Amino acid sequence: MLRRVLITLFLAAIGGAASFGADGPIRYRFTFPEPQHRWMQVEATFDELGTAPLELRMSRSSPGRYAPHDFAKNVYDVHAFNGEGREISTTRPDPYGWVVADHGGVVTVKYKIFGDYIDGTYLAVDATHAHINMPAVIMWARGLDDRPITVAFDPPKGMHWQVATQLHAGATPYEFTAPNLQYLMDSPAEFGPIAIRRFVAGERTFRLALHHTGTDAELDGFVRDVEKIVREEGTIYGEYPPYEPGHYTFLADYLPYAADDAMEHRNSTVMTSSGSLRNNRIGLLDTVAHELFHGWNVERIRPRSLEPFDFDRVNMSSELWLAEGFTQYYGALVLSRTGLVDAQGTTATLAGFVASVMLSPARTVRSAEDMSRMAAFTDGSDALDRTNWAATYISYYDFGGAIALALDLTLRDRSAGQVTLDDYMRAMWRVHGKPGGTRPGYVDRPYTRADAEARLAEVSGDPRFARDFFARHVEGREAADYAKLLARAGLVLRRRNPGRAWWGDIALDGRSGVVRVGSRPIMGTPVYAAGLDLDDQISGIDGRRILSPQDVGPALERHRPGDTIAVAFVDRAGVAKTSRVTLGEDPHLDLIPIESAGGKLTPEQRRFRESWLN
Ligand SMILES: [Zn+2]
Repeated sequence: MLRRVLITLFLAAIGGAASFGADGPIRYRFTFPEPQHRWMQVEATFDELGTAPLELRMSRSSPGRYAPHDFAKNVYDVHAFNGEGREISTTRPDPYGWVVADHGGVVTVKYKIFGDYIDGTYLAVDATHAHINMPAVIMWARGLDDRPITVAFDPPKGMHWQVATQLHAGATPYEFTAPNLQYLMDSPAEFGPIAIRRFVAGERTFRLALHHTGTDAELDGFVRDVEKIVREEGTIYGEYPPYEPGHYTFLADYLPYAADDAMEHRNSTVMTSSGSLRNNRIGLLDTVAHELFHGWNVERIRPRSLEPFDFDRVNMSSELWLAEGFTQYYGALVLSRTGLVDAQGTTATLAGFVASVMLSPARTVRSAEDMSRMAAFTDGSDALDRTNWAATYISYYDFGGAIALALDLTLRDRSAGQVTLDDYMRAMWRVHGKPGGTRPGYVDRPYTRADAEARLAEVSGDPRFARDFFARHVEGREAADYAKLLARAGLVLRRRNPGRAWWGDIALDGRSGVVRVGSRPIMGTPVYAAGLDLDDQISGIDGRRILSPQDVGPALERHRPGDTIAVAFVDRAGVAKTSRVTLGEDPHLDLIPIESAGGKLTPEQRRFRESWLN
């Protein structure tokens, strides 16, 4: 049905009916004169513009990426032409845009764009393919968001490349359409010698388009595993989303020169890895499970804060603990339920979530919502200046994964297994995802935190429980009682090294011939309390000289938790100091099945565990 809406709009627009007179389609053409030099030529035509100056923009954000990017930096050789083909001048209002005035109603802009980074955000062009994230290459026009768009790809001379994308098919295999700017920007494309596989699940067609270095047999085995994941996730929600182009497409670049990344979109995902089908199979499948789950959770069960995408500035969301964290949790759960990862691997992943929340003092200064808002700084953008994130930031993937774990186990515990997090996700889908969008590429009923809490109240039948859970673990800074919750499934959360003295997790840097504190001590740890910090030179412990990083371990091992040691050090201003460090107990945690910890798994624990993980 959405597809029919698209075609109707599009025909009306090119038909030039009077009422659609201001809706001329925007046409983009991508050509690759020298792919080996990593750039592409873009030509874009905007017509029926009226008399106002045309404001052309390069995005500062990309759908699914939560930090700002400056895609304009790789644009060069920009020329604008009017309808008669005469070049007209442009002005630069800011670093991200070009303004074209006195155009007479039609503008064609031509520019080159460099790109050499294979991931979910940027452009990569070389002699083997063009890997295109639209916001990295598209110069869009302000105010024309709702116009339909055509995109044409010209293969380089002599290359038999084909296009894989969630864009709608056009008149030829190299032409595609998008109903509007939001949909175009959300539609990456892989243009190259791709291997394509298809399968059907739940009346939906899934396509895998791979650019990789493996064998056909490896690919076929991988596709079988992907199909297991697709079926399992369909079971969780009870149905698949209505993928608008008629299929969902996995776009994968598994190449030695690719970055490790993945990005979800409405009807496709980009997955890139330097690993191969042979040597990184489970890692790649973990990404498949995560990204496909986003087809429901984030693409359609969408936080209001992300809807619609703002291409001038990055959207800030307080709900990434749910959008990303719950997706991360389900990735682990789905790999466990499909048998692709064994119990040991699954418990290691879950232990990682728990440890991130229980061991980091960041939780005392930022809630899960605060961590979500940090994404504008932490999601794929490097800072030149130093940060103290090791102590003040927990990834919303891990934090949210831990919250999902706590909520799933709590729901199961309080309902004797009758209500689970699957019910919660289905409720979110029913109310916020399934209604879809009246405009293609948009979501009509995005959720707020209040909505997420209301769905929990409905599913649990207990509004007070829902309020309490959100107040403590989402808005508040309280960790759930993970040891108690996990014990219901016969899993023991315990210290990895009981009785071992510990002064904090600090790196020691011996490269300059002395021993320096090589990572920032984390607040709340013994070294931090004693006043040591990054770059301090440790010269002695208990009167013994410290000459290399290897001297530190044995000096600590002579002690027990609670002992106090004297640490001689020189701070970075050159002042010699001595501090007393009161050692703690190594806080690192392991999560192990009770039967491996010398205990006995009760029938009830077994049932609980199996209905959860199997
Ligand atoms: Zn994600």
